[in-house]
Amino acid sequence: MIKIETSDRLNNLPPYLFKEIDRQKGEVRKKGMDIIDLGVGDPDLPTPPHIIDALKKAVEDSTNHRYPSYSGMDDFNAAVAGWYKRRFGVDLDVGKEVVTLIGSKEGIAHIPLAFINPGDTALITSPGYPVPSIGVGFAGGKIYFMDLLKENHFLPDLEAIPDDVARRAKMMFINYPNNPTSAVATEAFFKKVVSFAKSNNILVCHDAAYTELAFDGYKPISFLQIKGAKGVGIEFHSLSKTYNMTGWRLGFAVGHKAVIQALGRIKSNIDSGAFQAIQVAGIAAMESDQSCLKELNQTYARRRDVLADGLMDLGLKFDKPKATFYFWIEVPKGYTSAEFTSHLLLKTGVVVTPGNGFGQAGEGYVRMTFTLGMERLKEAVERIRSVGF
Ligand SMILES: *Cc1c(COP(=O)(O)O)cnc(C)c1O
Repeated sequence: MIKIETSDRLNNLPPYLFKEIDRQKGEVRKKGMDIIDLGVGDPDLPTPPHIIDALKKAVEDSTNHRYPSYSGMDDFNAAVAGWYKRRFGVDLDVGKEVVTLIGSKEGIAHIPLAFINPGDTALITSPGYPVPSIGVGFAGGKIYFMDLLKENHFLPDLEAIPDDVARRAKMMFINYPNNPTSAVATEAFFKKVVSFAKSNNILVCHDAAYTELAFDGYKPISFLQIKGAKGVGIEFHSLSKTYNMTGWRLGFAVGHKAVIQALGRIKSNIDSGAFQAIQVAGIAAMESDQSCLKELNQTYARRRDVLADGLMDLGLKFDKPKATFYFWIEVPKGYTSAEFTSHLLLKTGVVVTPGNGFGQAGEGYVRMTFTLGMERLKEAVERIRSVGF
């Protein structure tokens, strides 16, 4: 037996904050208690049938069985560009400004390898999706956390970033509509980001995974709609949430040519692209009639209303989201995020995610999803009502 010594890269990963919850989940399960998991951001509904049919046909075609092109099929990248034009009015050069990803997580995790040298600084939000900070850490970079606070509508306060930090920062990661806070970006905010990035020479990576999950007629904007945005950054997108395709692993990045090419070069040395049959199904998803998306959003909106009304009636405080499938709930007085999470889990079997798991500034909150059917959501409210807090 050799002695296995993992790298500093692995050893220095932040502690896994959900260990205690996983343990408690196990405990609750052992007692035979029924668990209602409002902790994971994974759609419960199936991929629409026309997309599955497109995959079935494509998988029979042997030309799809070989290595795909590293940067994505021309047809898929063209479908992305067409979709961006129709949805956001943004023009993209298919050959240079689009790269296909094996899910957007893959691209977000890899992009720091293209730009971060050991010791370089990246600006990342707290709370936030964990992948950007892990990617920057793996590349040896340092992180300056921009806190997302309620008084700023969970948008980072760029003016609060010290001048020396702004000057040395190389990259900034933002994500709107936001996971975990469900906050949405205004055009004014994105404009500030563009001008901040220009004055400080910072590459902006905007994660737009949730632009299509929005309610009450609200249409989230793309960062690339802002004048000058394509000169300072790129946008990550994914078919995961829009078409209930989390398991398929298909996403893309679009924007600044040199940035897209650099990401493509990293990828061509690590992976060999997304399975072509999946890309063909992705084309069907983006190019066919979008009524499945309308129905999906109506379903989410109904669930959101029932769960929000129930929880607000119990006295829990949060903004009803205009987009995403998350509630960012203030923990009641007397609890930390971890304590409130434990209370709900052990007493009611309802799983939520403690906000501090998304970064220090998430302390004082829990995140709850509505990716379960109506009956389960109602049941969750009733259980919390009967136990109280
Ligand atoms: C779900 C999610 C994604 C999508 O990830 P994929 O790898 O494309 O499935 C990206 N960013 C955030 C913030 C998410 O919550």
